Amino acid sequence: MLVVFIGPPGSGKGTQANQLCQHLSITHLSTGDMFRAAIQDETELGVQAQEYINRGELVPDQLVVSMVADALGNPPCNSGCLLDGFPRSLPQAEALDQMLDAEGKKVDLALELNVDEKVLIDRLLARKRPDDTIDTIHHRLQVYREQTSPLLNYYRERGQLRTVNGDGTVDEVHQQILAEVAEKNP
Ligand code: ADP
Repeated sequence: MLVVFIGPPGSGKGTQANQLCQHLSITHLSTGDMFRAAIQDETELGVQAQEYINRGELVPDQLVVSMVADALGNPPCNSGCLLDGFPRSLPQAEALDQMLDAEGKKVDLALELNVDEKVLIDRLLARKRPDDTIDTIHHRLQVYREQTSPLLNYYRERGQLRTVNGDGTVDEVHQQILAEVAEKNP
């Protein structure tokens, strides 16, 4: 099963992705985590990505797409995979469909975590990550509205989108996600 998580910063994608991956025994691929690891290890990719991340911008599509293509080619993804934070733009969604198409696979479910912006800002300010300053947060939310939210229609038109209200306890949201997954993958 291939699941894509879509949600603004602070929507709880990472937490919910972890729980769902454990439940389904599939691999969790978080592009944010991959970039943070690359920055920590001071790889060339990390150096390139860091300036975008600190400004709250998206890392250029070609860097992200080649990183994800490598990861998807790894054996752990063969039995299923959850993409957390990718795709984040229409070109990334198209690139993903092409990659999967070449292998006779497709996105089984695109899950949107929908959370009110006020709640998001409070959560992000409490998190204290280096890219979680108030200015960067506002910018990331704007980038989400402009570049990422068009994906909702992209997946809706393809019948792949399900939306879950992310403004509940971790367990409440998890239960809603399980219900959507069960419908798609009985
Ligand atoms: P958030 O909690 O803000 O959703 P992530 O941990 O998913 O953050 O990502 C952190 C940062 O990494 C993003 O603000 C962005 O700069 C970069 N990033 C992660 N995934 C992508 C992607 N698919 N395309 C471009 N940039 C990305």
